Amino acid sequence: MNAAPLGRSKDSDDAKNIRLEQARIIYAALPLSLAAILINASVLGVVFWDIVPRQANLGWLAATFAVTLYRWVVLRGFRSASDASRERPHWRRALGLGVVLSGILWGAASLLLFPDESMLHQLLLAFVIAGMSAGAVTTLSAIYGLAVAFLVLSLVPLIWCFALAGNAISDIMAVMTALFALMLIGSSKRLSQMILESLQTRHERRQAQETIRYQALYDELTDLPNRRQLLERLAQEMSRSKRHGHLGAVLFLDLDHFKKINDSLGHRVGDKVLQAVGARIRFRLRQEDIAARLGGDEFVVLIPEVGDAPDIAAANTEYLAVELRELFREPFVVGSHKLHLSASVGIALFPMEQEDPEDLLQQADVAMYRAKELGRDNVQLFLPSMQAAVDRRLEIERDLRWAIGNDELELYYQPQVIACGQLVGAEALVRWNHPTRGLISPADFIGIAEESGLIYQLGDWVLRRACAQLADLGRASGLHLSVNISPKQFREDNFVERVRTILAETGAPPELLTLEITESLVIDDIEQTVQRMRVLKTLGLSFAMDDFGTGHSSLAYLKRLPLDTIKIDRSFVLDIESDPNDAVIVETIIVMSHHLGLDAIAEGVETHAALAFLRSKGCERFQGYLFGRPEPFDEL
Ligand code: C2E
Ligand code: MG
Ligand code: MG
Repeated sequence: MNAAPLGRSKDSDDAKNIRLEQARIIYAALPLSLAAILINASVLGVVFWDIVPRQANLGWLAATFAVTLYRWVVLRGFRSASDASRERPHWRRALGLGVVLSGILWGAASLLLFPDESMLHQLLLAFVIAGMSAGAVTTLSAIYGLAVAFLVLSLVPLIWCFALAGNAISDIMAVMTALFALMLIGSSKRLSQMILESLQTRHERRQAQETIRYQALYDELTDLPNRRQLLERLAQEMSRSKRHGHLGAVLFLDLDHFKKINDSLGHRVGDKVLQAVGARIRFRLRQEDIAARLGGDEFVVLIPEVGDAPDIAAANTEYLAVELRELFREPFVVGSHKLHLSASVGIALFPMEQEDPEDLLQQADVAMYRAKELGRDNVQLFLPSMQAAVDRRLEIERDLRWAIGNDELELYYQPQVIACGQLVGAEALVRWNHPTRGLISPADFIGIAEESGLIYQLGDWVLRRACAQLADLGRASGLHLSVNISPKQFREDNFVERVRTILAETGAPPELLTLEITESLVIDDIEQTVQRMRVLKTLGLSFAMDDFGTGHSSLAYLKRLPLDTIKIDRSFVLDIESDPNDAVIVETIIVMSHHLGLDAIAEGVETHAALAFLRSKGCERFQGYLFGRPEPFDEL
């Protein structure tokens, strides 16, 4: 039901609109003109009955009545025509023909009825024709050409007759009538300009209003309804579904990794993709469904009726969601780019427990979010348990904001040792002492900190704290401290500057500081990552690749990164004895790191058997519960 875009008519549309208005004005004045013609013609007919030949008189009257009848028929046709049909040129032509015929008849009146003998009748005739002409100026000036045609046709014969009459008074009459005609033409021109200007102003104002209305309700990029219109429709559909006892559905679509397209190919390409996506979705839907764009890469589909029972409605909607996702199977071609996209879809049915349309959208959004978490390109139906998870998340975010500034965070350190068991360093791991929830694991809040942007403050706090403690340890200890850096934190514009400042302010020896980064960082922008790492290395610190093997590693980029250490992820190390695959993977990572001239450190070493295996494969450094759990700084 998406309306065609309004407020975007081209110039030709504008002109057409104004032409229609001109015709409308003249048609509107027509009844009065026709009445005046009939009355004046009848008066002339009667008054001139004995003055001029009957045949001429009757013939002229008959012709006048016939033309008037024709014009009246045309008028009726125009009045009953639809707006669209009124735009046809046919109506303007019929109007013009009527005016010209009528002009000819009034001209003919002078030629046929001009009484050579009676000056009084001459004046009466002149008076009537001049009156008709003056009237024509007011009724026809909307189209200047028509007004002039009428004036010329009706007045020139009169001037002609006066000029031929051959006496002084009629000569003067000829001149005066000519002057009168010129004056009328001049007035008509002015009037016509005024009418045109006011029509244009009115038209522009109406267009502006339409544009405003359009912008308020439609998304400019895709021409789909916008959030506001969607919410209005949702409110209608929610109450309709309550009344009729059926269920409707909202599908919340979010494109996967759209930001990458925008970032790497530019907003122009991004916009084109969004337009194409909007068009594909719209194309798939039925008339009564609505596709809207909320902004960014978020689209919402509203299906007013999906079934009467929740299970059937859910099944139907999921089927539709799968079909919508199918729309993305074909690549999107923009210019020379062939782009493969996918979407994550969240579904919410209504009416359920939603209070208002915002609530309903929020539920679909939550389900979409869940679909993203499950690895994207996925469909999820909203479940109340999802809402509980979201609420918990929001609570953690709120509490974390407070925690960062209020001393609820603490840094623990987990020892790192070499083969003989000697302590060579430690990894700083953040801990949160929540006043009511107790100690919260970073696994439960680092992700939230990243999403909410709190990671900047959090990461800063961790780095500053670790550096201060590293300075306390002093160079003499020779102990390295490792700090985890989240991808978002690393990519922050002034990250290098912040590290420099913190090092300077705390006096920590940079050569004893290691930053742990993850593979996801590299995938997003290798150029920037390499460049930034190089700059940081000039400060003296070193880099470790954390959780190696769990991301989408590529040897090609591993080679390019100025790394010092590779940390073998604990998931491989933990199962090293039971899972031959893991054993092979660990061995491969160790061999590879040696070839690349990097140290390998194994995480999650819990048993002597694991340690023995790692040592036999040439691994030199270890971290794990076997050597110590993360402990407060003083324990270290
Ligand atoms: P990670 O950097 O891989 O840290 C190692 C994690 O493995 C720690 O979990 C540690 O307690 C755990 N671990 C160490 N030895 C063993 C072992 O022998 N067996 C088992 N099963 N686990 C072991 P933790 O402290 O819960 O930290 C989890 C993750 O949170 C860290 O993984 C790191 O990615 C992140 N994280 C922790 N602190 C920070 C921080 O300050 N900043 C950032 N950005 N992330 C942090
Ligand atoms: Mg780490
Ligand atoms: Mg790790």
